[in-house]
Amino acid sequence: MTSSPPDASVYRTLLESTRAIPWQIDWATMQFTYIGPQIEELLGWKQSSWLSVNDWAERIHEEDRQKTVDFCVAQSQSGVDHEADYRALTNDGDYVWIRDVVHVVRNADGSVASLVGFMFDITARKQAEDKILQLQRELEVLSYRDSLTGVANRRMFDTLYPVEWAKARATGEPLSLVVIDIDYFKQYNDHYGHVQGDECLRRVAQSLDTGASRSRDLCARFGGEEFVLLLPATDEAAARNVAERCRKLLAQKEIPHARSGVGRQITTSMGVGTIVPGSQDDPSVFLDRIDRRLYQAKSAGRDRICDTET
Ligand code: GH3
Ligand code: MG
Ligand code: MG
Repeated sequence: MTSSPPDASVYRTLLESTRAIPWQIDWATMQFTYIGPQIEELLGWKQSSWLSVNDWAERIHEEDRQKTVDFCVAQSQSGVDHEADYRALTNDGDYVWIRDVVHVVRNADGSVASLVGFMFDITARKQAEDKILQLQRELEVLSYRDSLTGVANRRMFDTLYPVEWAKARATGEPLSLVVIDIDYFKQYNDHYGHVQGDECLRRVAQSLDTGASRSRDLCARFGGEEFVLLLPATDEAAARNVAERCRKLLAQKEIPHARSGVGRQITTSMGVGTIVPGSQDDPSVFLDRIDRRLYQAKSAGRDRICDTET
C-alpha cells in the first residue's frame, strides 16, 4: 500500500470508466475544456461536439432549459456548488434525465476559475418517481370510491357537502339532498344471501347514479344499504324529479324481492329536501332533517318519497 497520489493516467482511467460523465468548463471563455467520452454513449452527441456552454444549454429539453441555465449561472456566479436535474436531449430526438453535480473551482483571489462536475443518468429513478406519483393519484381516486358499488363513498360526501353548502350560501342557489334506504333489505339478504345482496346494492347504486345525472350531482353510498344524493343548484321540484327518476330507473330493473313487505320487487324509501342556506343554518342539522323524512317515508308504508315534515 502506497500513499503517493496516482499519476494522471490513473485519474483519466477512473474518470472515463465510471458511469457518471465528468466535464470541465472554463469560466472566462465559457468553453468546455473537457468532457468524458462516455457522453457519446449516453446522449449520442460526439465528444468533440461539446465546445461551449451553449452546446450544453441547447441540448436541454425546452421545458427545462431556462430555469436550469438561470439556476446554474446564478449559483456559479456566487461561487456555490450545486446540483440540477433536467432532461438532456439525445441525438435521436429522445431525452435522458440528468442530475448534474457542479463544483465551482476558485482562483487564489476567490474569483471563479472553472466549473467541474459529473452528469449522472437518473432516468430510471425519475421514471420510478413518476410511477409512484401516478399510483398516489390513483389511490386518491380509489379512496373516494365505494369499492362494492363503484359510486362515491361517505368520505367523498363528507368532503363535498360542506363545499357545496358554502357555494350555495355564497350564490343563493338552492341545494338539495335525497337520502335513500332500501326497503326490507335485511329480508333480502336473509332470503337470497349476501352475494346477491351485494349485487343488488350495485344495481341500486347504478340506478341512483344514473338518476342524478347533472355534472355536479353526487351519488354516494352513505353506509350499508343507504345512499345520499347531493344536488347543487337544484330546487324542490327538480330534486323531487330526480328522486322520481331514480325510483323509475330502479323499478325498470325489476329486481325480485320475494320477502318484501311492499310488493314483489326491490324498492326504496327516500327523504328529499331543499335549502338556500343562510347564516343560521347548519349542514348537519339539514342532513338530519332529510334523514327524518326518510324515516317518515318508512313509517308511512315504504316505497315512497317524503319531502315534507308531518
Ligand atoms: P327497512 O325497510 O326498514 O329499511 O328495513 P331493512 O331490512 O332494509 O333495514 P335494516 O337496517 O334492518 O337492514 C339493513 C340490512 O342491510 C342489514 C344488512 O345485512 C344489509 N347490508 C348492509 N350493508 C350490506 C352490504 O354491504 N352487503 C349486503 N349484502 N348487505 C348489507
Ligand atoms: Mg338502513
Ligand atoms: Mg333498509
